[in-house]
Amino acid sequence: MKNMKRILLKLSGEALSGDKGFGFDEATCLEVGRQVKEIVDKGTQVAIVIGGGNFWRGRNSSKIIERTKSDQIGMLGTVMNCIYVSEIFRTLGMTTEVFTPFVCGAFTELFAKDKAMDALSEGKVVFFAGGTGHPYFSTDTGTTLRAVEIEADAILLAKAIDGVYDKDPKVYPDAVKYDEISIQQVVDQRLQVVDLTATIMCLENHMPMVVFGLNEKDSIVETLYGEFNGTYVTV
Ligand code: UDP
Repeated sequence: MKNMKRILLKLSGEALSGDKGFGFDEATCLEVGRQVKEIVDKGTQVAIVIGGGNFWRGRNSSKIIERTKSDQIGMLGTVMNCIYVSEIFRTLGMTTEVFTPFVCGAFTELFAKDKAMDALSEGKVVFFAGGTGHPYFSTDTGTTLRAVEIEADAILLAKAIDGVYDKDPKVYPDAVKYDEISIQQVVDQRLQVVDLTATIMCLENHMPMVVFGLNEKDSIVETLYGEFNGTYVTV
């Protein structure tokens, strides 16, 4: 992927939990950190959004409590994830800053575009925790919103799967992976890249997405500076 000076890397919460499916897997986070340090050292500005599925999902983690409060718990889960990964990155020698769209006391900085841009230009890895700050949204929509705001060159989606397929390869062994696909095609074919709200935001704001497998060797570094094996979602 040429000419990517500023990217927004989206990691799923589950990816942080390794095989456990809950909480954190330190080895996985350290490996992500090692790769992020490499791309930062090469001059890429990196912002990160982390999902919250390793702790809580507003839609389905409780059948009793109301959605708004359930989503607030989900958003706080993403704050825990970002504080944790930010600290892991610091142990590797990176400088970091965690932003939230709501006040978290002294734990995080309140998000403002100018502050985030300053931090990025200082070479800090910037975390956007807490999603959009609103219920009924997701970290996919938070990712798209922040990527557009910071004028990122692309959203990098590091997934359990190594690209976008025409159908689910776990169900259909003959599924075909796309090297490149347009966002309009993603919408028309209802392909699962990010959720539909986030897909439409990418379409309207001309934000490309780059999908690749987090578990492939060196995939973050390779995607930006080496051989790209995933799917490029064009605008
Ligand atoms: N969430 C929210 N608003 C946001 C971002 C996240 O309410 O802007 C909540 C929501 O409850 C979600 C949880 O945080 O289920 C974790 O976010 P993620 O996007 O990982 O959830 P998923 O879409 O996988 O359920």
